Amino acid sequence: MLEIYNDYEIKKHTTFKIGGKVKEAVFPSSVSELTQLLKSKNYDYILGNCSNVLFSSANINKKIILTNKINSYEFNENKVKVSAGTKGAVIANECRKRNLTGFEFLIGFPGSFGGMIKMNASAHNQAISDTFIRAKIYDIKNHSIVEFNRNEMQFEYRKSVINNNYIILEAEFELNRGDYNKINELMERNIEFRKLRQPSLVYGNAGSIFKNPENDSAGRLLDLCGFKGEEEGGACVYEKHANFIINKNNAASLDVLTLMNKMYSKVKEKYTIELEPEIIYIGDKETDEYKLWENITKENIRQIQK
Ligand SMILES: Cc1cc2nc3c(=O)[nH]c(=O)nc-3n(C[C@H](O)[C@H](O)[C@H](O)COP(=O)(O)OP(=O)(O)OC[C@H]3O[C@@H](n4cnc5c(N)ncnc54)[C@H](O)[C@@H]3O)c2cc1C
Repeated sequence: MLEIYNDYEIKKHTTFKIGGKVKEAVFPSSVSELTQLLKSKNYDYILGNCSNVLFSSANINKKIILTNKINSYEFNENKVKVSAGTKGAVIANECRKRNLTGFEFLIGFPGSFGGMIKMNASAHNQAISDTFIRAKIYDIKNHSIVEFNRNEMQFEYRKSVINNNYIILEAEFELNRGDYNKINELMERNIEFRKLRQPSLVYGNAGSIFKNPENDSAGRLLDLCGFKGEEEGGACVYEKHANFIINKNNAASLDVLTLMNKMYSKVKEKYTIELEPEIIYIGDKETDEYKLWENITKENIRQIQK
């Protein structure tokens, strides 16, 4: 059943555990409810599990749809069809039970398939694009449903053809048959890798803060700049990985954005590399906070406008 909330406290829905009240938050429970919503009204953002998002701590005058209640999936031999809000980790576990290989990297992932497909999520030498066959997509401009195959998705590192005009409704993947023990071992290794190098969700975070620049690693550059452990208000650069910011003590979005600006500026000054944020920021324009966000995205905005 469709759930609609006004002045919804978004903080509780985000992995960063940061955010004020959004004007309207809608939770459809099926692909058909989501399609009806998209047909009937304009929404500012369609989100999944909000694991790659920094919301402003101030109240936000936006209408959003959250897909986390649309979480159906269907296996047919080595293929699986998933709806947009289904979590990667759920399907990774289901694949293990069925001796299917290709999704082992999703075991430590907090994201939904909608978000993961849009950014071609990847880890441990596996990516969403490896097993992707096709997706059913709502085209907001033309109010029609289209289907994109792997080529049409134009997958790249943390990128696909999906922009704000396209909403992923469901997608199909083809896995390979594998050996249970090998699949299980790889998943355990992936979990161990994350435990050693990345923060768990005990401290709020949104995964990597910046994308890796070409042929380099944002974490390496930020580490060389001495950011590990750097604090700003309640936000702190993770001690074991300099490309993660954790919500150590009731951080506000301003703390995170101030820290991100420092990280961006230092890397630019020292290595003439302009890091590009991997996370997205949602807040009202014309605020001081928004200016901080524009500061670190203006190069990208300029490139898009070219
Ligand atoms: C602890 C931790 C570890 C992480 N590790 C990794 C990692 O190893 N590799 C990696 O790639 N990422 C990683 N992430 C980041 C994050 O999980 C991924 O980016 C994930 O793909 C985001 O999915 P989501 O459902 O949370 O998307 P959201 O954060 O809700 O949204 C992200 C973007 O996707 C869009 N979107 C969401 N749903 C749809 C839809 N149905 N149709 C169209 N657009 C949509 C949103 O509009 C937004 O632009 C990590 C995050 C955390 C917190």
